[in-house]
Amino acid sequence: MDRSLYALLGAPVHHSLSPALQNSAIDALGIDAVYVALWTWDDLVAPFMRSLPGGNVTLPHKRAAAAALDQPSEDVRATGACNVFWWDEDGGLCGDNTDSAAFRTAAEALLGGALSGRRVLLLGAGGAARAVVHACCGAGVDRVEILNRTRDRADELVGDLGAPPDVQVLEGGEAVGGETYDLIVNATSLGLDPTDPLPVEPESVQARALLDLVYGRDDTPLVRAARAAGIEAADGRLMLVEQAALSFMKWFDRDPPREVLLRAAGLVE
Ligand code: NAP
Repeated sequence: MDRSLYALLGAPVHHSLSPALQNSAIDALGIDAVYVALWTWDDLVAPFMRSLPGGNVTLPHKRAAAAALDQPSEDVRATGACNVFWWDEDGGLCGDNTDSAAFRTAAEALLGGALSGRRVLLLGAGGAARAVVHACCGAGVDRVEILNRTRDRADELVGDLGAPPDVQVLEGGEAVGGETYDLIVNATSLGLDPTDPLPVEPESVQARALLDLVYGRDDTPLVRAARAAGIEAADGRLMLVEQAALSFMKWFDRDPPREVLLRAAGLVE
């Protein structure tokens, strides 16, 4: 069998819509490939990457994936996290972090305008949060305030990104109720499990919009709570579609049909 195998490496992966998106686009273009999700341990990430023609990486392995690359992109160097890999013609393992660009597109679609000059409250300090801070700084936001369960991890993130002056880490218990934000971003993994508590009570924060990077087949509990509090909100499916399109381009050197990806994500009929 000649069919090429592409994979998503992560833990957990059962919730992921990436196989549905990628296989829909692969089928639509008649490419002889298949994309599967592999529940993977950290020490198997590099061997899997070296045995596949390409793939994606999700939590909690994006840093391990970055360390396995021969040719990390500038965004991988800046964030320390890799979410897509492929091979160049010279046999070098290349990787990029397309979460930053995908986040920016999804955030600007939700806000109905550029991120520049905005004030952002970021919940979380893991791999996705790194991509968000990198995108926000590149887009010229006014300020990003980071709130994470483990304060040290947020400090480490800011330090690794060169301590940008427009990024501030909040104390764990610090009240955010008195502030007004243009955008709240949930980059914690809370919401993946339906029994999770909300990462923030939306009605306790003054905000114009909320982007939950977590997604399911339907609106997440945080998105529903934000809308009930009068805040415009979206889940992570548009960001997923954007990063899926960028990944597809790296592997197959052509644009996937956007409508097919949006339909597979349940964003259009
Ligand atoms: P990660 O590196 O494992 O980071 C997880 C984050 O969640 C950390 O900040 C962690 O805080 C926090 N957290 C975990 N459990 C918590 C709890 N019980 N209470 C409070 N905080 C908790 O994961 P990631 O790669 O950044 O991904 C985060 C989420 O974004 C995932 O749901 C992922 O699916 C989603 N994501 C979506 C897209 C998309 O395209 N839509 C792209 C990337 C990621 P500590 O530091 O204290 O552990």
